[in-house]
This record gives sequence, structure tokens and C-alpha cells, in this order.
Amino acid sequence: MQLSFEKMPLKLKKVFRVANSSKSIADNVLIKLSHDELTGYGEAAPSEFYGENSQTVIATLNSIKEYFSGILPELTSTTDSVGEKIAGNYAAKAAVSIALYDLIGKRLNLPLHQVLGLTQPLSGSLTSVTIGIDSLPEIQKSVEAAEEFPILKVKLGSENDREIIECIRKITDKPLRIDANEGWCRDEAVEKINWLRGEGVELVEQPLPADEIADTAWVRERVSLPIFADESVKTIHDIPKLANAFDGINIKLMKCGGITAALRMIKAARSPGLSIMLGCFIESSIAITAAAHLSAACDYLDLDGHLFLVDDPFTGLQIKRGRIKLPDSPGIGVIKRE
Ligand code: MG
Repeated sequence: MQLSFEKMPLKLKKVFRVANSSKSIADNVLIKLSHDELTGYGEAAPSEFYGENSQTVIATLNSIKEYFSGILPELTSTTDSVGEKIAGNYAAKAAVSIALYDLIGKRLNLPLHQVLGLTQPLSGSLTSVTIGIDSLPEIQKSVEAAEEFPILKVKLGSENDREIIECIRKITDKPLRIDANEGWCRDEAVEKINWLRGEGVELVEQPLPADEIADTAWVRERVSLPIFADESVKTIHDIPKLANAFDGINIKLMKCGGITAALRMIKAARSPGLSIMLGCFIESSIAITAAAHLSAACDYLDLDGHLFLVDDPFTGLQIKRGRIKLPDSPGIGVIKRE
């Protein structure tokens, strides 16, 4: 196989702000894995929050480029050996995983979800669309622009959380999912979550800082909305310590290192009874569509990262009224826009 890669900076329509970060350009990397006449596409969406950026991704890919030139496309051995050769660097690993699965799907002439033994997303599963932290007039505009989406994921964790919810509730009564991005302390979390319960909220993601697991368990005993981990869960190794503090986990390809890793996490999370949300960073249709092929194995979908881009360089999944339709073409099924 031939591994090639280049930076793929993605400009956002407007600054995307959450409680613990903000960005206007996503520093992503496009990768290609070719064999015979076929090419698999992959993408890294590195996050500074986890110590990665496009330079660390490119340095990692350079370190394994030679290895790929000597091997044939084979899923398990390649995935395992890449895992052994690279420590950390989960976005880089995810990019390789996505490209490898795309290439394997093309060789088998099957869409990725069929390669994985999965179906199109289940009929009741809808993706949310995210409303970032902003001024109230901008939030109003974002909510109105998201009219076709039946579920909103609202970023909180600033001083005016109540005003944000009240502003949204003047416009719509659709179900809300809340993401505090570590923005609350434990007493504040209990008070706000109990208030949010009466505001048509379905669940709350990451109320407290990532390592405050015991305090999150304390909060969970005092509220009745499901609590999901995002920053508290990166890989499969984080799952055992979370089961008493959370009701579910947000799995992202870029955090866990790719498709095989995500499937293993889903399995590991089911046994202590954790629900699964499938999430994303700001990504093009490559990584979003790759993740979407796992939808049928998950309970909640939050696959909207490509909708924030000025120019998505690829086409892939379609979203109509929150419902995801996967491409039927082999592999991930993404096509480069001309
Ligand atoms: Mg989150």
C-alpha cells in the first residue's frame, strides 16, 4: 500500500465556541491509502485539547509511511501493528483506520456498514445539531437555521446558561441535549440539571471536569437526567472507572483511534450498561461518514461536524430532518467535490 497525506485546513462558517475551547479553522489532515487501482480516504481531526495538531499527525504518519509500502491491505494485522507502532496520537491512528476500512470496503465492493455487519442507521435514530456558546441574538439565529433538525445539542457552561435555554425555549419546544464541556462545579451541576429537567432536556454531557469522576457520581445520585461522559472517556481503558458515575459515553473516532477501537469500546461499554453516543469533532464528510457507518450499533448520534464548514471538500452521508442516510457505494462512500 502507498500512504500519502497533506494538510486539509477547514474553515468554519463562524467561530465555534464551547465552555473549554473555541476555533475558526479546523487543522485537519487528509490521508490516502492506495493499493492496485483503489484508494481509501482517511482524515485526522486533531484536537489541541488532547495534545495533537496537524504537525503531530504528519510526523506520526511520516514515521509509519515506510511500513505501509511493504504490506498488503489486511484489516486485523494492519490495525494491530499500527496500534503497536504508534503510542498516543489517536487522531493520526483514526485517519489510518478510516482510510484502511475505506480501501477494504472498496476491495470487497461493500459499503463500510456491511463490512462491519451493520445496517443503515435504525429508523428512530436521529442526529442532533449543535448550538455553540454565543450571544443570545446569534443563538437565536443558529436555532432558527437548525429548523429542520428535530434535536438540538446545546453547549452550556458559561454564566448565562439559563438565559440561553430561555432564549431557545422562546423559539422551539424540540428536545434538547446539553453539553457543559466540563463547565460546572458539582453543586452548580445539581442545581442546573434539576432545572433543565423541566425544560425538555434529554441528557447532560460532561457536567464536571474530566477527572472529577467521584464528584460526577455524587451529582448523578442527586439528579434524574442521564449523564454522559465525553472528556472523561477517550479510549476503552477509561470505561471501567466510569460505570458508577455516568449513564452513557460519547465515543469519537478521533479520541479512540479509529473504527476497530470504536467497535471494541461499544462492546466494552455495553456490559456495565452504559448507553452509547457517537460523536465527532469539526470534520469533513470523510470522518463524519466513516463514523456514521457505526450508527446502527449506537443509541444517540451527534454527527454534525461537517455542517459547520464553509466548504466541505467531500460529499458522503446525507442528513434529512436529522435522519442519516449512508452512501450505498463501496467503502465509506465519500466523493471529492470538484
Ligand atoms: Mg462533548
